[in-house]
Amino acid sequence: MHDLIIIGAGPAGLTAALYAGRFKLDTLIFEKMSAGGQILLSPAIENYPGFPEGISTFELMDKFKQQVEGLGLKIEDKEVAGVLADGKFYQVKTQDDIFKARTVIIASGAQARRLGVNGEDKFIGRGVSYCGTCDGPLFKDKDIAVIGGGDRAIEDALFLAGYAKSVYLIHRRNEFRAAGILVDKARANPKIKFVLESVVEEISGKNKVEAVRVKHVKTQQGSEISCQGVFIFVGITPNTDFVKNVLETDEFGFIITDQAMRASREGIFACGDCVRKSLYQVVNACGEGAVAVDSAHKYLLKL
Ligand code: NAP
Repeated sequence: MHDLIIIGAGPAGLTAALYAGRFKLDTLIFEKMSAGGQILLSPAIENYPGFPEGISTFELMDKFKQQVEGLGLKIEDKEVAGVLADGKFYQVKTQDDIFKARTVIIASGAQARRLGVNGEDKFIGRGVSYCGTCDGPLFKDKDIAVIGGGDRAIEDALFLAGYAKSVYLIHRRNEFRAAGILVDKARANPKIKFVLESVVEEISGKNKVEAVRVKHVKTQQGSEISCQGVFIFVGITPNTDFVKNVLETDEFGFIITDQAMRASREGIFACGDCVRKSLYQVVNACGEGAVAVDSAHKYLLKL
């Protein structure tokens, strides 16, 4: 029986692990992919305090990991299939085993949301991508469409402009959710062309992406943009299927917590991008990870 199982090793889960290590809780940490979470899909982070020049996300997350491992904790390469209540305790099921713990912290993060247009599924890996850092170098001197108006879309458009011949930034409104400082940088980049108040209706091609069909939302006028890559950044969807029947979530699957990061069952806490909240940033994911462990620790003392 362990004190705590942390599911997910992104910024929230790794910060939770750091605090759990310092509280000397008997802790297991499970991560289904590599430690670091989806922030690794961005090349660099410019709004994490303490790094005025920005820092590579790989470097930052590697430091998080080193700090956790320095406390003697190990991040185990396991995918969690379910969490079951077992009296006052919990069973965490992986493919091969069942682990028992008094408390569980869900820090399972989120993944890119699909746009849901014709051609998207067909061309994944053949021009359609959700990660500029991973796939950008494949589009050297090519034309690329980037879809979305949030931080990810603008950050990745800037990154992709370093490789591509041109980047069409297609966004459905005239205003951006992204930080103004990023939008200013994109406007100043001669390779980035803004296609605003426009939605993509179809991604087309024979064997690979060749074009996107775009419609202006006000005039309803259609046009085609020739491109070889389409990078989609239209928000996130939480990785919470494995706890949907156990915990209260909102209609999109984000876990509902209180301010102490307590989920709807005693002894389960949640933090990071899998939680319903107003801001999805590394900086508050870390704070939530710390709060979740503090709450778990207090709960364990009561037990
Ligand atoms: P986001 O901030 O939720 O923005 C999604 C964008 O996609 C919005 O501009 C939205 O348009 C547009 N969109 C949504 N559905 C669409 C549709 N069906 N058709 C066309 N456009 C659509 O998401 P994101 O930029 O992908 O970023 C994901 C999360 O990661 C965000 O919460 C972001 O803040 C966070 N993030 C954090 C960091 C960091 O910690 N430094 C860095 C990058 C990203 P509208 O604006 O019109 O709704």
